[in-house]
Amino acid sequence: MMFYDLHIHSALSPCSDDDMTLNNIVNMAYLKELDIIAITDHNSVKQLYHLPTVAKGKVKYVYGVEIQSREEVHILAYFLENQCLDDIQLFLDSYLIEEPNDEYYFGHQYIFNEFDQIIDEERRLLIKSLDLSVEEIINWIHDHHGIAVFAHAMSERFSIMHVFMGIDETLDIDGIEITESKHQEELIDRYPYLKNKAWFISSDAHRLDMISEPRYQISEEDFYGLWRRRYG
Ligand SMILES: [Zn+2]
Ligand SMILES: [Zn+2]
Repeated sequence: MMFYDLHIHSALSPCSDDDMTLNNIVNMAYLKELDIIAITDHNSVKQLYHLPTVAKGKVKYVYGVEIQSREEVHILAYFLENQCLDDIQLFLDSYLIEEPNDEYYFGHQYIFNEFDQIIDEERRLLIKSLDLSVEEIINWIHDHHGIAVFAHAMSERFSIMHVFMGIDETLDIDGIEITESKHQEELIDRYPYLKNKAWFISSDAHRLDMISEPRYQISEEDFYGLWRRRYG
């Protein structure tokens, strides 16, 4: 089994602390004895290029991103490390509804190298929507060998349950992220077709101390099986 935290924001997300650097995140995960992490910034994978170097020998990872749809639903996308980050970034860049970041109001959007030196700062505000529907985003994720998970599905903001008041069976989602384990039962009671989805409880950490304790686990078979079942 793997202890996981698959929803962590680096300092590239405007709402995150500036000390959410690659080394700080990886070392915190290592200290907490997590087995696998995903850094999931809003609408960008630009922080992930140096993650393999930093994570090596300390923690497993998948590539991740938290995408905001036109309807303001957050969808987590996960990709295996053979996926080309440039392709993902190009897609995000072409659909992000553009507005300049006001760093004094929203915070900085820093990009680091493997030594945690700031090598760039994203100037477009990343907490905007892509000009695509939930369905179009899920389809794009699947066209690029990714796994799609509804982020914080029951939360008051930016969640599928809040925006759509339900989870449509026709949406081809792979997993559901919840914030409390009792939500799994509640949702399956209402929507029995969710029974065989993958269920996750991650931290949505925006500060180092918010990164998960080793509490929630998934087997390697169930996790990587998400890709095997869909893509063979
Ligand atoms: Zn979110
Ligand atoms: Zn988040």
